Amino acid sequence: MSALSLLRRPAFGRSVLLALTLAAAALPIATHTAASASAKVAMAARPDFQLPFPCGQQWRLDTWAHSPALDMVKEPNQVGTEGAPFVAAAAGRVVQSFFHSNAGNMIQIDHGGGWFTTGIHLQSRAVGVGAVVSKGQVIGAVGRTGPTSNNHPHLHFEQAFDSNGDGVASWGAAGTERVSQVFNGATYGTANNQTYRNVNSCGGTQPPPPPAKYYVDTFAAAPGYSTPGGTRTGTLNAGTNYVFCKVWGPIVQVGSAYNHWWLKTDLDSGSPWQNQYVSAYYLTRWGNDEAKDNNGVVIRDC
Ligand SMILES: [Zn+2]
Repeated sequence: MSALSLLRRPAFGRSVLLALTLAAAALPIATHTAASASAKVAMAARPDFQLPFPCGQQWRLDTWAHSPALDMVKEPNQVGTEGAPFVAAAAGRVVQSFFHSNAGNMIQIDHGGGWFTTGIHLQSRAVGVGAVVSKGQVIGAVGRTGPTSNNHPHLHFEQAFDSNGDGVASWGAAGTERVSQVFNGATYGTANNQTYRNVNSCGGTQPPPPPAKYYVDTFAAAPGYSTPGGTRTGTLNAGTNYVFCKVWGPIVQVGSAYNHWWLKTDLDSGSPWQNQYVSAYYLTRWGNDEAKDNNGVVIRDC
């Protein structure tokens, strides 16, 4: 439970998040000249977009309250976000590159077939209008320009489809032509308050998620508790058992053997029996203050 809430906590403080939301709502539509638009363009295949960062990197994507736009910060802890190279997500031609009073430095690329990408809050722009860019070419640097960045380094990124066929893609606010985004074949930004961790900038295998269960041998019946060292609720029998994760808590010591780690698990008996805690003291194979599975893999933190 605590692990989930930790992961879901916004990277930005609550007040910043609120400000981001408000600011995003207030961001005016930039160049949208629909006067001559009449013919709807046929929906062409979307280009094969990569994340707008060099290959081999991992980024966190959040929709906050402005789905399908995504705010992007570098994994694992946002360090290196500011100044990170910003690259073209696919080949195309630069159609906007300027300093916008709300969005800061922005670049929009026309990828053909009605498809556009837009990045804002850039620290710097390396290409001007008319530049022809290739996929993965560095076109600027990630920053925190424009008041709607809230002075928090991140890339606000949008994919758009020119649905009214006027030759440009409106951006930056609800009701514009921005659409849910697809990178390396996976779709992001389908609803507000979505968070995607460790997204690879280019195709390839995502890092495997931590195992949901670890198998461990325990040498004696272990008392189970509602919290580490808290209310006694049941018993985990000796033998091969599964556990979910570990937390640091009160020491359990018998003679010279001791352990501060507590393992979240389902008990064999008791009430409640699910998601209770037993001391890692009962692990057959490991020593003082160790909490590993039968293969020697350190059990993840809850
Ligand atoms: Zn944003």
